[in-house]
Amino acid sequence: MTSGLCETIQHSLLQWGNTYFRDYPWRHTRDPYRITIAEFMLHRTRADQVVPVYLDFIKTYPDVFTLAQADYSEVQKVTEHLGLHWRSGHFIEAARYIVQKWGGRFPDTEEELREIPGVGEYVAGAILIVCYGKPYPAIDSNIARFLNRVYGLHLAGEIRRRKEIKMLAREIFAVQDPGRFLFAILDFTALVCKSQNPLHDKCPLQVICKYYQDEVKVLKSLSSESQNK
Ligand code: SF4
Repeated sequence: MTSGLCETIQHSLLQWGNTYFRDYPWRHTRDPYRITIAEFMLHRTRADQVVPVYLDFIKTYPDVFTLAQADYSEVQKVTEHLGLHWRSGHFIEAARYIVQKWGGRFPDTEEELREIPGVGEYVAGAILIVCYGKPYPAIDSNIARFLNRVYGLHLAGEIRRRKEIKMLAREIFAVQDPGRFLFAILDFTALVCKSQNPLHDKCPLQVICKYYQDEVKVLKSLSSESQNK
């Protein structure tokens, strides 16, 4: 069952996304192969840097079968602009595993997806959400920070795997179109509820955000009081 706060967050982020969605080539597909390639590339790399390499990669290796037959050095040539040498192996190993174990079809459970070389919790989640429409709680560090703030959890350190965050993520991803919601929350946490200098004044969640109400607003009023003295 979803709470009122959770429903407000879901609704506000989807509304915000209608206007501010970022358009990337991997957002026009639900093909698990393409989503996996995009997610591998996006790991610790900016999306705008990934776009040309992703397009080149998909043109050269349009499906899991062509990639499974590729040569490591050829794949490295396509990915080298991202400094992805250490990841080239993952691309081919994942493709070969999918072809050998699943005949080229991607499985649709977390356990089976996580057996694919290079596929961790977040990538498996993205595939389940975007390709199969399953409301899986995908959590990257931006999403964890956002939940920590908006629910006023005051968690510190490596919070992505904390049970409170996982519980809330499970709740907010329970929407009709989890793929669209994932794009909205990824963009919102990258552009508005950023790690440094979040744009509170442009945020549609200001009124319900515990971090804003309990900390930012209080600090703002203290500073305006001291200026008025
Ligand atoms: S009010 Fe600020 S901290 Fe709260 S969700 Fe919005 S941007 Fe993030």
